[in-house]
Order: sequence, then C-alpha cells, then structure tokens
Amino acid sequence: MTMRVLVLGAGFGGLELTTTLCERLGEEVEVTLLDRNDAFVFGFSKLDAMFGLASDEEVRHPYRDLGRPGLRFRRETITSLDPARRRVTTDRGVHEGEILVIALGADYEAAATPGLVAGKNEFYTLEGATALREALAKFRGGDTVVGVCAAPFKCPPAPSEAALLLHDHLTARRLREGSTITLVLPFETPIPVSPATSEALLTTFRERGIRFVAGRSVARVDAPRRAVELDDGRSLPCDLFLGVPKHVAPRVVVESGLTEDGWVPVDPGTLATRFPGVYAIGDVTGLEVPMAGLFAESAARTVAQAILAGATGGARPPKYSGAGACYVEFGGGRVGRTDVDFLSGPEPTASFVGPTRALAAEKRAGAVARRARWFGTGAASP
Ligand SMILES: Cc1cc2nc3c(=O)[nH]c(=O)nc-3n(C[C@H](O)[C@H](O)[C@H](O)COP(=O)(O)OP(=O)(O)OC[C@H]3O[C@@H](n4cnc5c(N)ncnc54)[C@H](O)[C@@H]3O)c2cc1C
Repeated sequence: MTMRVLVLGAGFGGLELTTTLCERLGEEVEVTLLDRNDAFVFGFSKLDAMFGLASDEEVRHPYRDLGRPGLRFRRETITSLDPARRRVTTDRGVHEGEILVIALGADYEAAATPGLVAGKNEFYTLEGATALREALAKFRGGDTVVGVCAAPFKCPPAPSEAALLLHDHLTARRLREGSTITLVLPFETPIPVSPATSEALLTTFRERGIRFVAGRSVARVDAPRRAVELDDGRSLPCDLFLGVPKHVAPRVVVESGLTEDGWVPVDPGTLATRFPGVYAIGDVTGLEVPMAGLFAESAARTVAQAILAGATGGARPPKYSGAGACYVEFGGGRVGRTDVDFLSGPEPTASFVGPTRALAAEKRAGAVARRARWFGTGAASP
C-alpha cells in the first residue's frame, strides 16, 4: 500500500524532506506538501534583495517547478491542525496522512514592537527587504541602526551581516563618512556559541567604525523623533532603521496545542512530537539549536531516514546531532564559516574558518546545488 506523508511548509526543512522521500521511495510514497506561498526564498537572499545585489525575480524559486514522482504540491493556507488524527484543514480542503511533519517555520509579530511595521522597516520578509532597498536608495546619509527586537531570531549572524553589508553599501555610495552604523543585539557577543567568530566580527566592526550595543533589544521605533528606544530606556538617534522583528510559532501551530513555551517540543534525537506519527523540524521546534536553514535541513534528513526505515524495514537513523555549518558575510565579498555541533556532546562545540572569497563561492555553490536538487533545475543563480 502506498504510504501517505503530509508535510506542512515548503521551506528549507519541508523541501529537503520531500526530496529525500521521493528520491528514495518514488511511487511507493505519496507526499503532499502544503505551503501558502507560491515560491521559496533562501533566507540570505533577503540581504541580497535589501542591498540591491539581486532582483526579486532572481531570489524567488517558484513551487510550480517542483515535479518529482510521488510529490503533490498544493498552494494552500493551513487553517487548523489536529495532531492526534494527523489531519489538517486548509482554505481549500482537508488532508490526512499516516505521517505528519510540521515544518512551518517561525512567523513574525511586528506589532509587538511599536513603530516596527511588517514589510516596511524590517528585512526578515522579502517585502520588507525590498521596501528597505527603496529606502536605502533615497538615503543621503545620517544615523542608521540595525536592531533586533527579541530573541530567538532566525540566523543569529544575519544582523551582524546586515551591518557589515550596510557599511559596504554606504561606502560605495560615498555616504559612509556622513553616517553612523549601530548594531543592537540581545546577546553579549555576536555569536555566543563561537567566541572565535564573535572576536572576528567584533574586530571587523571596530575596523569599519560600527558601534556594537550588546545585550539589548529594540523596544520602540520612533520615526517622528528619528530615534529608536532600547529595552533599558536608552534612546539612539536613527534616521534609518533595519529591523529584526519578534519571532513566534505560526498561530495555527499554537492553536493546535502542540506548543510549550511558544515552540513545539520534540525528542532531540528523533524530532518526534508526543503524538504518534507526528514530527516537527526546523524553526518551529523548541530545540536548543539556532533557527537556521542548515539545521532544518539536517533535521529533515533524520526524519526522512526514520520514515524510510519504517517503510522499508531498514535500520533506524542515528540520533539527530544538531550539527551544521553557518556561513557569515563579512563584507567586501568575503565569507567566514562556523561549524557547530549543538547536541552530540554535553556542551555545544564550534570552530571558525576566517573570511575568504573561496568561502563566499562555497556558500553560493551550496545554494545552487540545493536549488537544483529540490527543484530539479540546472545550475543557476541562488
Ligand atoms: C535575513 C535572513 C538571513 C538568513 N540567512 C541564513 C543563512 O545564511 N543560512 C541559514 O542556514 N539560514 C539562514 N536564515 C534562516 C533560514 O531562512 C530559516 O532558518 C529556515 O528557512 C528555516 O527553515 P524551516 O523549514 O524551519 O522554515 P521556513 O523555511 O521558514 O519554511 C516554513 C514554510 O511554512 C509556510 N507556512 C507557514 N505557515 C503556514 C500556513 N499557515 N499555511 C501554509 N504554509 C505556511 C511558509 O510559507 C514557509 O514557506 C536566514 C533568515 C533570514 C530571515
């Protein structure tokens, strides 16, 4: 009998999971993949979009190009989720599966921060990154702030990367001398798990004249007063704000009763939830790993192997290690890499490779390869 697998969310985790299952099981599995959007966008492409390094068209990968045997993609918005019955209701109908995998990522709650407006002064959505590209084009110099409104947030290096790319952007337009750049992070160091990465970033901030405000969040964006207010009451001058909104689990997941402390608890070794046949992967989980595509992807591989083992009677997969490589943009076309392992040992471990152009090429090549694998398209821009 054909096994029915229902995958919620066609992001990093959902795409990797469905690709692996369809590759390995072909017609023996019927995979239904649901997503409300019509295209996938790599997270880092939002930085490219914001700084005018790629067009919207170049960074959007339409789901209509997904065409593997056994895979049914449906563009539908999930409106309710019943984990006990592995049943999902959408704006178009009802779906059920023997296996249900929740890969719905994290949503944003811009309204939690007065003055922060979704799609306008944040760069975590493509719409917001595009709006900021237009704001940057009009910018003639002044005080800029790259600021995080709450932890946890996706891709811990992304705000540091944004500050360094902003430096490059303003320098290229001869606006840097008449501008300040301040980075506000809710951590004491840019990448707490990796002192070496943090030290390299702090050194680069000093060289570029970027001010780092550690251990604070942005509590309010006060555009009329041209200022942002921090959570300790301090005020910073701000003519242009590049914001990271508060993250929350998608409402449909919260309403299903699956969350504890805001996120979905899972067995760290297997990604299983407390409901039989129901897994959760990626940013939606409460796992002690960063919200990053590479961790969603490795979690997807662990779950895919467990499903394959169930279908074919093969060996159970090894425990999920929470390991992955995070690329970090340092500006000037150079990228560093932090290799981290969060769950194998008693404490997370990390190592750092300093920024080079070769690592920038490695990062791009990884995205091109994933696009080719998930969408079956030839090598093209990520
Ligand atoms: C600026 C920025 C830079 C980043 N840089 C990197 C990087 O360099 N490296 C890296 O590894 N990660 C990076 N990330 C993080 C990365 O994008 C995410 O961590 C990753 O996409 C998480 O994968 P996921 O599968 O858990 O969720 P997602 O990829 O977010 O996918 C979730 C999917 O669920 C869908 N969905 C949600 N709710 C519903 C609903 N009700 N109905 C239907 N569909 C729904 C969404 O449309 C989405 O497609 C970056 C993120 C940002 C914002």
